Amino acid sequence: MIVFQNETVVVFQSSLYQTTSTMIDAETSLLLIDPGWLPEEVCEIQSYVAAIRRGRPLYLLFTHSDFDHIIGYGAFPDAVVIASAAFTNHPAKDFPLKQIHDFDKKYYLKRSYPILYPEVECAVANDGETMKIGNRMLTFYLAPGHTNDGLVTVIEPGGILVAGDHLSDVEFPFIFDNYESYQKTINKIKKIIDSGNIELLIPGHGSVTNSMEDIQQRVNQSIHYLQSLKQSEDCEDALREQYEFFEGMKDTHLHNVREAAKKEK
Ligand SMILES: [Zn+2]
Repeated sequence: MIVFQNETVVVFQSSLYQTTSTMIDAETSLLLIDPGWLPEEVCEIQSYVAAIRRGRPLYLLFTHSDFDHIIGYGAFPDAVVIASAAFTNHPAKDFPLKQIHDFDKKYYLKRSYPILYPEVECAVANDGETMKIGNRMLTFYLAPGHTNDGLVTVIEPGGILVAGDHLSDVEFPFIFDNYESYQKTINKIKKIIDSGNIELLIPGHGSVTNSMEDIQQRVNQSIHYLQSLKQSEDCEDALREQYEFFEGMKDTHLHNVREAAKKEK
């Protein structure tokens, strides 16, 4: 389902976890980000790309290696893949693939394409690395903390912030790498936003926003959440109030509490 569209940017949103997939028309090339994730949703994106492609090169950007974000890779076999160096050097590439296979088995899902770990052509190793795709300039920032291989991208012109699993309006921070890294990443993202060049925020889950007020609020909420974890505040009631699906993510919150406590030692 398309949830956002302007002249050059289209954002699809999956029914599952409100996961987003983004298509950017960069004039002489196309840039696709995290295509996913149910089979018919991937098909919809495939058809969309095929309809507008006109022989143009296709670039595929992965924000991180969580299985829900790489699940559509095999549907775009001729794409040039961009991801972080840590993504490229994932020590256990079979793990997310197994999660995809397990998921598909559990829900009797068939896919018309192979399940593969993305083969990366452009591996980003440093903050501030840039890459030109068509008429767009991409600037990359390493974003560990959610996973160790996260990548946040700013795309100009347009001031588009492709945030991966950060700054969601439906999820508090999910700390699957480590607390300290997540905190540093949020501070890095805050700096990018405070630079004043961001006009559109595309999170990996939830709603796209072009409201500066909303973007700032999401940053502040993440910072506040991380602080409350560290201070071992009981914020469950506030989280339940703020996040419609909190009961479904409560275990992740409890995991976060343990992660934050680790760093206190
Ligand atoms: Zn995700």
